[in-house]
Order: sequence, then structure tokens, then C-alpha cells
Amino acid sequence: MHFDLFVIGGGSAGVRCARIAAGHGAKVGIAEDRFWGGTCVNIGCVPKKLLVQAGEYGAWADDAAGFGWHIRKGPHDWNALLAAKDREIGRLAGIYRKLLDGAGATIFDARARFTAPHTLDVGGTHVTAERIVIAAGGHPTRLDIPGAELGIISDDAFYLPKMPKRVAILGSGYIAVEFAGIFAALGAEVELIYRQPLPLRGFDHDLREALAEAMGAQGIALRPGCQPVGIEAHGARRRVLLGDGHAVEADLVFFATGRRPATENLGLAEAGVAVAASGAVTIDSHLRTSQPHIFAIGDVTDRLNLTPVATAEGHALADSLFGRTPRRVSLENVPTAVFSTPPIATVGLSEEAAAARGPVDVYVTKFTPMRHTLTGRARKSLMKLVVDQASQRVLGAHMLGEDSAEIMQGLAIALVMGATKADFDRTIGIHPTAAEEFVTLRTRTRVVGGAAKAAE
Ligand code: NDP
Repeated sequence: MHFDLFVIGGGSAGVRCARIAAGHGAKVGIAEDRFWGGTCVNIGCVPKKLLVQAGEYGAWADDAAGFGWHIRKGPHDWNALLAAKDREIGRLAGIYRKLLDGAGATIFDARARFTAPHTLDVGGTHVTAERIVIAAGGHPTRLDIPGAELGIISDDAFYLPKMPKRVAILGSGYIAVEFAGIFAALGAEVELIYRQPLPLRGFDHDLREALAEAMGAQGIALRPGCQPVGIEAHGARRRVLLGDGHAVEADLVFFATGRRPATENLGLAEAGVAVAASGAVTIDSHLRTSQPHIFAIGDVTDRLNLTPVATAEGHALADSLFGRTPRRVSLENVPTAVFSTPPIATVGLSEEAAAARGPVDVYVTKFTPMRHTLTGRARKSLMKLVVDQASQRVLGAHMLGEDSAEIMQGLAIALVMGATKADFDRTIGIHPTAAEEFVTLRTRTRVVGGAAKAAE
């Protein structure tokens, strides 16, 4: 059992790396001990988006009356949704496995653990490899507070035996705001408990404000500036105790308080692979660990924890090692979406990050989407461009609103190519769409950053 390349982890990063390397003619082995396709396919992006879409159907049924369709909505069938989701996820996980098979990789349904720098124990089989890739991903964490075991994590949310009536979500990152929207849209009362003044720390301030407003309009109760200090069980009910002495009652407490790289029990010390205090595998700009023949890609390195980044890194690494086309993945201008209700999508710098570099022109528009002029739903869209004043390059594009993720992908190409505000302005819009607003933002809203005052 000797391989040119052995990949630990069958998620987005590992599968892509193994498949492409095998395609280049390398003898490849890959091990996965939980599920093929990893977090994204099984307990992440894909099933999450299906749950978001389930919520959208409910809202559309309500909104249809504005267009003359009087739909009587029955109760939502949570178990039917989960069964349909499980069928689709099963199909996708099967495809991942088949792709590897088809590429000629040797598949191990087992845990791999280093026993020395070039050797692994893979479910009892002794394996050696010239090069090894760690693509073990990450897992959700609970806060270290009394009663933490009474709360669930996102892994569990996809298999709840029934829809909870009252949910307390802890945190206000991607997972917290996405699941707040899902549970609210499916009929639960939701409280979002977080320590910041606004959700989604790190995102553009206007987006964060608009999201808080949109969540309020969806009926989600927001509890900013709150630190959970414990959870108690009272029969089936749960009480989240807060630092300020208040408490929140719920049937379900959901920790959406971050993820940790899955570096435990991999034998990294035996391999001589250095790990940071966060648990992340330390790598250089070529994805190389402290051992020159061992590489790490995706969430296990805890940089930009997004599936398409992991996949791109897996592909680039396989091409670099076996395809004679060395290349690196840029982590600049990586677009991302948060599938809140409505979704947020963004690429490039926030106004705050751009302003810290120098003067920027800011263009913002907020409007009621056409559909909701008839439905009457209290839902606004926000669009924003952040432009470097000196070069007129667009540094950031941001949107909260329906279809924002679909719109942002195209804008990301423009930003990656270095488009200026004038390039946006000379592009003809598609009418009537929300997207056309991005090319018709004529009036500057404000100037911020650096010498902003002088420039005004
Ligand atoms: P995030 O890191 O995005 O958010 C973690 C949240 O937990 C923050 O609100 C944070 O607060 C809070 N938190 C952390 N520690 C504490 C603490 N000790 N006390 C109180 N609050 C705390 O993590 P998620 O779990 O939401 O998601 C993990 C990552 O997975 C994301 O960052 C993203 O990279 C990826 N992801 C991407 C998705 C997508 O592309 N759509 C969807 C889901 C996940 P604070 O802000 O104050 O630190």
C-alpha cells in the first residue's frame, strides 16, 4: 500500500485534490470516516440551502395573494422535508464517491492517522505515501458554559426529529443568521442572542444594519450585547442564562458560535506537523505544512472557511504537484453569501476596511423590490459600492436582498478584473431587475476615509 499521494478527508477539498491528482496519473489513496462530500454536502451548504428554500415556499404562498392567488397553506411537514433532503444528500454523497472511483483513486471508508511522517494507519491498514494532504475540515463548537450539552450544534439541526416551537440561537455569524431565518420561515419563534451590537461582525456596517432590520421584519427577536453564561433544563424546556441576569426560554438551544479545525486524533505530532493555538494546521503560501511533503487545504487551515476556496485549493495543489502547472489560489476578492432571509452577498472590502486604507466614495441605495410593491411584505433590498477615490476602482460590492448571491457572482468577476466605477456606469442595465441598480448608482452617498474631509 504505497501511494504517490494520500488524502485525509473526503470533503470538498480532499475529493477535488484526489480526483485531479489521479487524473494527472498519480497513484492516489483517500480516506473518509464519516461521509463522502464532507460538511458542505452532508451537514452544511447543500442541505442548509434546501431548508432555506423550504422557508421561501411558505413566504411565497403568503405573498401570492398580492398577485391574485389565494392559497390556503396547511401546516409545514418537517419530516417530509427532511426525508426529501436526505434522499438528495444520499444521491450527492454517492456521486462524490463515484467520481473518485472513476478517477482511479483507492477509497478507504476509514479514519486515517499518522504513525510517522510518511506512514499512516488507515482503519488498521498500514499505508505509506510520498506526499500527504490533510483535508480533515472542521466541526462546530459549543461555548464552554454550564449546561452546554443541553444545546445542539449545526450538525444536529439537519436531523431534528421535529420542528421546535421556540428556538434560541447563540451567536450571530453565518450559521446563526441562516438558521434564524430558516426556523422563523418554517413557523418557529426565534431569538438570536449575540454579544455584538449588530449581527455578522466583519461584514459591511450598512449590510449588518439592514440585516438586523430584515430579521426584525421577519419576526426574529434580536438580543444584541448578550453573553450566554449557562443553560438549564426544566423538563423538555431550556433556559439560557445571560450575563446581565436575564434568561431566555426555548425548546431548543442552538450553538452557532464558531467552528474549529478537526485536527484532533490525526497523529499530527507523530508526523511533525505544526498546529497553531486555534488548532489549525499551519501552512505557507504553497499550502505546505511544517513538513515539506505534507500539505493542508480547506477548513483544517482555518483561513477563509468557504467550500469554493477549499475546492479551488485542492485543485490547485493537485495541478501543482502532479500536473506541471504550479499555481496558487488568491484569497482576495473572494465573493461570499450568507443565506439569511433575505440573503446577503458581498465581494471585496467593506466600507470600514476600505476607509482604513484611504479616501473612498460610497454609493448606497435601498428600495422595495418590485415584487413586494404588490405583496406588501415589509422587505427592502440594499445595494452598495465602495470605490477607491484616487483610482476609481470598485473595492467592494455588497447587497442584502432576494437573489443577491446570484447577482454577486457576476460582479465578483468585475472586481477580480479590477473594474472601475466608470466601467460599471458604462454597462447597460437589464430592466426591470434589481441587479441594474449596480450600474445606475449615479449619486455618491458619502465620502469616507483618509482625507475624506478635504475631498468633500
Ligand atoms: P462564525 O465565526 O461566522 O460566527 C461565530 C459566532 O459565534 C459569532 O457571532 C461570534 O461572536 C460568536 N461567538 C464566538 N465565541 C463566542 C463566545 N465565547 N461568546 C459569545 N459568542 C461567541 O461561525 P459560524 O459557526 O457561524 O460559521 C463558521 C464558518 O463557517 C463561517 O465563518 C464561514 O466561514 C463558514 N460558513 C459559511 C457559510 C456560507 O458560505 N454561506 C455558511 C455557514 C458557515 P463575535 O462576532 O462577537 O466573535
